[in-house]
Amino acid sequence: MLKMKKQCETCNAETPADSEAFICSFECTFCPACTRDTHQQVCPNCQGELIRRPRRLRSVASVAQVQVRKKV
Ligand SMILES: [Zn+2]
Ligand SMILES: [Zn+2]
Repeated sequence: MLKMKKQCETCNAETPADSEAFICSFECTFCPACTRDTHQQVCPNCQGELIRRPRRLRSVASVAQVQVRKKV
């Protein structure tokens, strides 16, 4: 499961799970402003591309319940 980091690694701005943020394949997490203006969509840690993180609108527990029900 994707770790939803709550802070931009560059400026420490908050990036809660239901807000827009950008991540690389190693889950380095950046706010939209740093992604665009500071890093030009390239992760400064691994040089991988930064893509928009899917937002998480429901709690892990509530989705796990749905997943269990579908298996039955
Ligand atoms: Zn930032
Ligand atoms: Zn990275």
